[in-house]
Amino acid sequence: MENLSYTKDADGVVTITWDMPGRSMNVLNEASLREFAECVERACGDGEAKGIVITSGKQAFIAGADLTMLGSAAAGGRDRSSRPAPDSRAERAKALYENNVSFNMLLRKLETCGKPVAAAINGTALGGGFEICLASHYRVAADDPRIQIGLPEAKVGVMPGGGGTQRLPRLIGAMQALPLMLQGRTLDPKAAQGQGLVHKVVPPAELLAEARRWVLEEGNATQPWDRGGYKIPGGAPYSKQGLPVFMMGNAMLRKESFGKYPAQKAIMQAVYEGLQVPIEAGLRIESRLFTSVLLSPVARAMIRSLFLSMQELDKGARRPRDVPKTDVTKLGILGAGMMGAGIAYVSARAGIDVALLDTEIENAERGKQYSADLMDKRMLKGRATPGERTELLARIHPSTDYADLAGCELVIEAVFEDRAVKADVTKKAEAVIGDDATFGSNTSTLPITGLAEASVRPASFIGIHFFSPVDRMQLVEIIVGEQTSDQALAVAMDYVRRIRKTPIVVNDSRGFYTSRCFGTYVGEGLAMLAEGIPPALIENVGRQSGMPRAPLEMNDDVALDLGWKVRQQTRKDLGARYVETPADAILEKMVVELERFGRKNKQGFYEYPEGAPKRLWPELAALVEETTGNAQQTDPPPPALLERRLLYIQALEAARCFEQQVVTDVRDADVGAILGWGFAPWTGGPLSLIDTVGASTFVAQCDELAERFGERFRPNALLREMAARGETFYGRFAPAKAAGAAA
Ligand code: NAD
Repeated sequence: MENLSYTKDADGVVTITWDMPGRSMNVLNEASLREFAECVERACGDGEAKGIVITSGKQAFIAGADLTMLGSAAAGGRDRSSRPAPDSRAERAKALYENNVSFNMLLRKLETCGKPVAAAINGTALGGGFEICLASHYRVAADDPRIQIGLPEAKVGVMPGGGGTQRLPRLIGAMQALPLMLQGRTLDPKAAQGQGLVHKVVPPAELLAEARRWVLEEGNATQPWDRGGYKIPGGAPYSKQGLPVFMMGNAMLRKESFGKYPAQKAIMQAVYEGLQVPIEAGLRIESRLFTSVLLSPVARAMIRSLFLSMQELDKGARRPRDVPKTDVTKLGILGAGMMGAGIAYVSARAGIDVALLDTEIENAERGKQYSADLMDKRMLKGRATPGERTELLARIHPSTDYADLAGCELVIEAVFEDRAVKADVTKKAEAVIGDDATFGSNTSTLPITGLAEASVRPASFIGIHFFSPVDRMQLVEIIVGEQTSDQALAVAMDYVRRIRKTPIVVNDSRGFYTSRCFGTYVGEGLAMLAEGIPPALIENVGRQSGMPRAPLEMNDDVALDLGWKVRQQTRKDLGARYVETPADAILEKMVVELERFGRKNKQGFYEYPEGAPKRLWPELAALVEETTGNAQQTDPPPPALLERRLLYIQALEAARCFEQQVVTDVRDADVGAILGWGFAPWTGGPLSLIDTVGASTFVAQCDELAERFGERFRPNALLREMAARGETFYGRFAPAKAAGAAA
């Protein structure tokens, strides 16, 4: 065996240790599962074996199923294109189902073989890894708050398939088990013990001894559900206590996911049906649902974008290969406002020394205070120690003196969004920093190539666009200007990796990639409003589409006056090419006449009463009629059509960005969309959405939308070509050959 080891000691305790060579984490894949099956058969069949301990030789226990393997099963083989060959679907389903059932029957054998089995959870145990623990009779975990335990499958669009949906609710009841599985929440060992997922938490050094002790001294070799008189905690689904869990649970699930996520629905179904039958039948029900979820387009797209692509981008898939690894040990930040303060925090957390400059020392100090406040919150939650707080704050040096930038390998400016101010700070910083230092701008709208004109070495000038709030937003959009060198790109990517965020690389364009596409969503909401579609319908459809926030609400959050200013600027820049829309009149009236700026002055498309939830401004429909002449529609288009408008307008813009080489890699486009502006995760991203719908259907539907709602829906040439040739983005622009292939 290569991946697992099998030992039996003098007392007859068998220890099965997972330790896969060449990997940082143990995963369930074909090879490791084969060896695990061998170990289980051997231990169960050994008359002298008194009991079994399962553990890991690595820092983590088992990370779960190998998602690369699952992703490829979902996509129908190694091909990364979105559409599996239809004729093989039934065969793949059969093979997947049978594989899954045999894994489940193996775990069933383990828990019924008559020998006590203890899982010694020495590190993170997720998904299939935790399902092996659930099939053990005793679970003891090492006392380390960094360890994560749970069934997070739903987060990437799949469901537990190794008995998790059957054992967890039989162990702790459906009411406790469902939220954990539906939200994919993981727990540290103490919390896991509190919820009944593990029996005991002990100091790491005592873990194996405790597992052995239990096997030899207590060793009850039956699961609760195999004992006489077993009752499901909280009641069976059809009981008086149990039924409301499912009635309420279904309603809540619907309210949150709008039926967009097959995995969540299947988890609910597996628990509801599975708890009404013996566990073997429940396991088959789970395997059937697992298979159908895995083969759904949603799982395929979600695994690909939210796991595989994201992991590849995190590991530097888009980094120029021939530049040696770089490291930022000292970072300069210009402007200690909202963004500068956030960048200082995430950088100091990664161990980087930060010179935080502003025009006034009070501003710079305030920027540092932001980190102090965040660390206070973390300490309150028990996630940081006073020592860590002191250490982090000691790395941030507030200043007004450019001389303090000396020795910085990278400087990031986050001053006001003003070309002249940015040019001024660029010059001052470059006068101090070394010739080989890189200069990054966090601008959200100003083209990088233009800003680089202020630089004496534009090759070292690059866009490093963070999202707000910096500490919570995972994405960083790196913008390559016309003269930006590979060296500067490598420095930016190495820095982003060090602060553990996900980078995407895009080319210069108005709004770059993320702001440009996101703008179409808020813009489409405005267009609907101007047509007289009832505001509440627009908002509900927005949420139902899977977007995190509704379009009018988003307009308010971004600020209506900002939206108005951007439109004014665009009008100025485009001149005669600017297409005036009725939405312009609405914004002008809201901003110029009524001074309703949105959330920031507590009046916009919504009103924000003190101490009560915000609500749509009741005068809105009347204002629309007054400014556009469009009365509120009494028979508006069906919600499904409106939902399509909201998603397709964004997907079209992403396709245009791809054609124009603003974004050149399908992974950047999809991951950037989900992490950057929250594009409906169930789609796997805008390009995945087009692939799933199929280019020819997408193009035909866009043409229909264009006829009915405006030319902005007219598909671009690339999409028409792909439709004619029956191509997909992930087929034609498969990542290895993606760069520059959009031409
Ligand atoms: P902010 O107004 O909160 O902070 C700007 C800071 O820069 C202020 O503290 C100001 O005193 C300082 N400053 C101004 N001129 C300076 C100078 N000459 N030298 C040193 N410091 C100076 O603004 P913000 O929201 O942090 O935005 C900063 C930049 O980040 C802008 O370019 C903005 O477009 C971009 N950005 C903002 C967001 C966002 O959501 N707010 C997101 C991404 C990017």
